[in-house]
Amino acid sequence: VWGRVIDIVSEHINAPSLRLWFEGTRPVDLYEGTLEIEVPNDLARDYIETKFKELIEEALTDVTGYENANLIVNVENPDRPRGREGNGGRSGFNEGVESVLQARKPRPFKAKYTFDTFVIGAGNRFAHAAALAVAETPGVVYNPLFIYGGVGLGKTHLLHAIGQYIEDQDVNMQVKYVTAEQFTNDFINSIRDDKPLGFQRRYRENDVLLIDDIQFLEKKEGIQEEFFHTFNALYEENKQIVIASDRHPKHIQTLQDRLVSRFEWGLVTDIQPPDLETRIAILRKKAMMDKLEVDDEVMTFIASKVSTNIRELEGTLVRILAYAALYGREVTVHLAEEVLKDILPDSDYREIPVELIQHEVCRYFGISKSDLLGSGRSRSLAYPRQVAMYLCRELTDESLPKIGKAFGGRDHTTVIHATGKIAKLINSDRDVFNQIHELTYQIKSKR
Ligand code: ADP
Ligand code: MG
Repeated sequence: VWGRVIDIVSEHINAPSLRLWFEGTRPVDLYEGTLEIEVPNDLARDYIETKFKELIEEALTDVTGYENANLIVNVENPDRPRGREGNGGRSGFNEGVESVLQARKPRPFKAKYTFDTFVIGAGNRFAHAAALAVAETPGVVYNPLFIYGGVGLGKTHLLHAIGQYIEDQDVNMQVKYVTAEQFTNDFINSIRDDKPLGFQRRYRENDVLLIDDIQFLEKKEGIQEEFFHTFNALYEENKQIVIASDRHPKHIQTLQDRLVSRFEWGLVTDIQPPDLETRIAILRKKAMMDKLEVDDEVMTFIASKVSTNIRELEGTLVRILAYAALYGREVTVHLAEEVLKDILPDSDYREIPVELIQHEVCRYFGISKSDLLGSGRSRSLAYPRQVAMYLCRELTDESLPKIGKAFGGRDHTTVIHATGKIAKLINSDRDVFNQIHELTYQIKSKR
């Protein structure tokens, strides 16, 4: 039960605070709708009771089916032996809950991911407008709608918003949201169980299909084939299809040309990282929605430091507040600075070694390290070299001379020239923008 509750709760709390507050927590008893848990200390009890009680009780209602679910938080008694749950006379309640779970219709949408909660800025204005247009007149304006952009920039949020908007307008509309991974598993299972028709019905008898993270189909040509048929069946009936991806269809390797071209029948639009103003606005909205009291100054500071991922942006705010609560400190810029340095080793701030960037750039362009650092001037070498220098400038704190040195002892003016050139290209050439974007993502995920 606790696992299920945590699953649901975790959808509403970011990973760092989940770890911070729930790591030492364990369930001790469950009777009817009342769940008793134990936490390691008073602080955790107070925090969970004030911040998360309501949320947990809601989740508990979902899981157990009891309307008046109730959470009791006790501080751990070191004398009590661990691992009591499920022992003596209590076996059976797990199975009971299992059946409740089975019967529960899965809710595919996060209530918070609506158009109302989506902050519009330069980077996402067009994607937002297209998503809203599709939600208002599904199957009519842009079909398919293909939204792509980096991690944590709001693609899933928009997909959910479209789905919820359409369902709110017309309860009879069949809306299906899946990730490409779920689609794949579903397909594989249907083959295994010899139930291909069930699969087809589940996907083709919808008015709207929202499919997330389509890049998962990269290099999976069998599934692409199946998706192609699903796509056609829906499309021919003027059913709306919305697709999200972390990159442009053209950059999904081995994606069949006919799928790429079908995606281009509709509208392909990107989401770009939010500018500073938008990031601040997103934090303000978050603070307002979660009733958090935070100075503008602190939000501005966070927004200036975390720039590439909105999930991380929001997570950082929560983490700073949790930290302040934990140590009974005021939420100030000073504290925020401290937290960003000390307890967020996996944020934007973990150092990225120059070698990692060089390695990834070599791999990406298929050249050797000695070519990258050498003196070859052909475009096929000079361009990757400039990209690598640019990324070193963007992703590390190394000085210009140091970067130059790391590139076969080049002068710092060479680095300035290279970074300037790439920066210009990013603004004028969509392909370069995509490349840099993809590389940045790859490098950060390997850090
Ligand atoms: P993606 O699917 O692109 O990786 P998500 O849609 O999961 O990103 O967004 C990550 C987090 O950032 C979510 O909590 C989402 O609500 C929030 N978010 C993203 N864009 C916005 C926005 N424009 N306004 C408000 N919140 C946003
Ligand atoms: Mg997503």
